[in-house]
Amino acid sequence: MLCLGIESTAHTFGAGIVSSEGKILANAKDSYSSATGMIPKEVAKHHEQVKEQILADTLKQANITLKNIDIISYSHGPGLSPCLLVGKVFAEKLAKENNKPLIGVNHCVAHLTIGTLTTQTKDPVYLYVSGVNTQLLVASHGRFRILGETLDIGLGNALDKFGRKAGLGFPAGPKIEQEAKAGKYIELPYAVKGMDVSFSGIITAAERKLDKNSIKDICYSLQETCFAMITEVSERALAHTKKQELILIGGVAANKKLIKMLTLMCAERSVRFAAVPTAYSGDQGVMIAWQGILEYTNGRKTPADIHPYQRTDEIDINW
Ligand code: AMP
Ligand code: MG
Repeated sequence: MLCLGIESTAHTFGAGIVSSEGKILANAKDSYSSATGMIPKEVAKHHEQVKEQILADTLKQANITLKNIDIISYSHGPGLSPCLLVGKVFAEKLAKENNKPLIGVNHCVAHLTIGTLTTQTKDPVYLYVSGVNTQLLVASHGRFRILGETLDIGLGNALDKFGRKAGLGFPAGPKIEQEAKAGKYIELPYAVKGMDVSFSGIITAAERKLDKNSIKDICYSLQETCFAMITEVSERALAHTKKQELILIGGVAANKKLIKMLTLMCAERSVRFAAVPTAYSGDQGVMIAWQGILEYTNGRKTPADIHPYQRTDEIDINW
């Protein structure tokens, strides 16, 4: 069975094709970028412009046509409404025209399940760090349970927000990673509250240092501080749950320094650590296709809708 997955929740329009055995056949995407940030209507316009080409690229990579597809899935939320609508309307049209079943899936849950598929883990603690989301989760009693999360903004958005002030462009995460390589530590606030974290105060403090300190030193210190915070709560999650695996997923999982810190912490606890491969860390259609396979083959049906605020822990695990 083959599923075509459509992703459009935020900056990225993507399509991917996955088989029911978990084989990834295609992954094509195009991401909106700008000097300032995301304006939802502008991002939706980007998605409208690239959707047909991305679909064509995906089918070409897999060397198939839409006739060979068995299921079509799309991200029904959470995300920016104008962007979600582009994906939904496109997926719905493709399903109708080609007489295929359509299923809407949760974008965050898809990040988690592409994580276990591509890292060959079974029952990990999930550290999910993307633009909007920063959550620590485990699967328990039929749902993904959130053990800790950001109390304000996600880490990716926090880095992007600083980057906007510092003139690094959007997305800023990869640029901050580069700048940080030649930086040294300067003090920033450290905000862990139990199992939760908070980034907005740190970003304000970092922005205030822009006229006195070098950008390299601020970037280095931002990474050290924010990554130490999420490493601390991840370690506590492992200690409490006694789970033997930690996986890192979401766009920030591309960061080598974060991977290094988590690798060290897990080695000290004799826990297996894996980061999702970079091709599947940020938003893409592959994870939506795999989530479509998981839910559809286990009998789930969803109305063709969008859910801009749907949380990770609202979805029953039916697979
Ligand atoms: P997602 O929403 O999962 O697609 O993730 C996008 C976020 O990941 C953006 O906020 C980026 O700034 C961030 N990001 C991407 N690459 C890196 C990196 N190398 N280091 C830190 N953050 C990154
Ligand atoms: Mg995402």
